[in-house]
Amino acid sequence: MSFTLHGLGVSGGIAIGRAMLMSHATLEVSHLTIAPRMVDKEIERFDTAVKVVKDELILMKENTEHAPAELNAFIDIHTMFLEDPELAEKPRDIIRERRCNAEWALVQQMEHLVEQFEQFDDPYLRERKFDVVQVVERVVKELLGHPGRAALKNARKSKEESLIVVAHDLSPADTIAFKEHRFASFITDVGGATSHTAILARSMAIPAVLGLENARGLIRDGELLIVDGLRGVVIVNPDQRILDEYQLRKEQIELEKSKLKHLKTAKSETIDGVEVQLFANIELPGDVPEALQYGAEGIGLFRTEFLFMDRTAMPTEEEQFEAYKKVAETLDGKPVIIRTLDIGGDKALPYLGLPTEENPFLGFRAVRFCLQRKEDIYKPQLRALLRASAFGKVRIMVPLVTCVDELRAVKAIIEELKQELDAEGIAYDKDIQVGVMMETAAASLIADILAKEADFFSIGTNDLTQYTLAIDRQNEKLDEFYNPHHEAILRMIQMVVDNAHKCGKWAGICGELGADATLTEQFVRMGLDELSVAPSMVLKLRKIVREMKVEE
Ligand code: PEP
Ligand code: MG
Repeated sequence: MSFTLHGLGVSGGIAIGRAMLMSHATLEVSHLTIAPRMVDKEIERFDTAVKVVKDELILMKENTEHAPAELNAFIDIHTMFLEDPELAEKPRDIIRERRCNAEWALVQQMEHLVEQFEQFDDPYLRERKFDVVQVVERVVKELLGHPGRAALKNARKSKEESLIVVAHDLSPADTIAFKEHRFASFITDVGGATSHTAILARSMAIPAVLGLENARGLIRDGELLIVDGLRGVVIVNPDQRILDEYQLRKEQIELEKSKLKHLKTAKSETIDGVEVQLFANIELPGDVPEALQYGAEGIGLFRTEFLFMDRTAMPTEEEQFEAYKKVAETLDGKPVIIRTLDIGGDKALPYLGLPTEENPFLGFRAVRFCLQRKEDIYKPQLRALLRASAFGKVRIMVPLVTCVDELRAVKAIIEELKQELDAEGIAYDKDIQVGVMMETAAASLIADILAKEADFFSIGTNDLTQYTLAIDRQNEKLDEFYNPHHEAILRMIQMVVDNAHKCGKWAGICGELGADATLTEQFVRMGLDELSVAPSMVLKLRKIVREMKVEE
């Protein structure tokens, strides 16, 4: 049966392929009462799942001989939990005594253990509850035969280009894992147009539709789908006529794109000689070659938090240094603006064990979090950034600044680290620029004060819009209210640019609004010096800039 679903088109283009349903790792398991004669079988199911996961961990350990110590420690701790009678034996008793299905028995025991861990005064021991949850999650997935991420990793590469991921929701961490793959598209039930899931789709230049409400429930594995990422439409089981029509449109879009290729090395300059720099946003060091392929003149936003995701412990200073150095070197003299860790909001790091917040976007995030975790988190990152600055044009950007004291505090740490590096004889760029990400109304309104102490401004319109208009950027139901063209936002952008220029500093946009082609001419006229956008948008904007006159 053919039917059409409507959602938010967050990343343009057309994809045609087969649905691959993705189950999220969830511990919402069925609660079943089993017949007495099935008890032994259920215990056997449980034992087998535990054994499979234990064997997997052993294999992982064998294959990670040179892995960081943290990874080995995490494998050891998970193996230890799986061998502990509290997890290996107690669920068997629960199955027998309460006649529960294996998943439910295991989750009940997990909840009991988590409660016990929460009683510990020692924060290290308290955080071990996350290991219990993770290990139980593995066993539950095994019991349920859930594909989840493990199966994703095994998806046959050759087939990926014709697969469309269908999920209820994807966290930024899930989406970043897609970077290793080449899926044709992804569609989800929830998510707003500037959610990080949407941003990642644009960064991978694959069509995506979010906010479909019940796609996960309506579409079956293997069904043929057309995803129109521009119009936000998903057609399930299309007939041949529709299929031919979309195939043609897909080819036309590809042709349009390839026509822009000749602008790859052209200057981003208006007819009357005003230059604007067109940079690209990236999430991982591996994104740089593609950004350069698309003609980016630099990287205007490297969202470093993605280096911290999809792993079980913080990356060390050394690991971070290698990542930042790789970016700087690949850029071969072109600048890179590296944003310091912007965790919180929708980007969680489970291994940090932070308490759940009622309003995470208004909570303990970005610079306010990093300044509280100066010793163990911020200093290693800033040191790694300074060290990498010896290998290219690295600039540091501070997210979610609301007052000048935050900028001063970060700069004071940088000064302290510079002295440390001098004493150790380690090279770094002594004139490294430190800029502010303008993404709160507070920062924009004190742009005149900040401009005296910041080396540059980059406007994060995604957060600036959500905080100024009081609209959750994640919530697809509020999409009609999320209006970055609002006069308040445009006025703030102008204020930021003018105040930067008064102090001889530069200002750019790195939020998604920077890629809005309907505003490119206006942005150039407003005096923006730089626009940093998804790599695949660079050439489109360059064409607009080269065909306009500021005077008009
Ligand atoms: C922004 O807020 O505009 C921005 C670029 O940062 P992020 O989307 O990562 O919050
Ligand atoms: Mg932001």
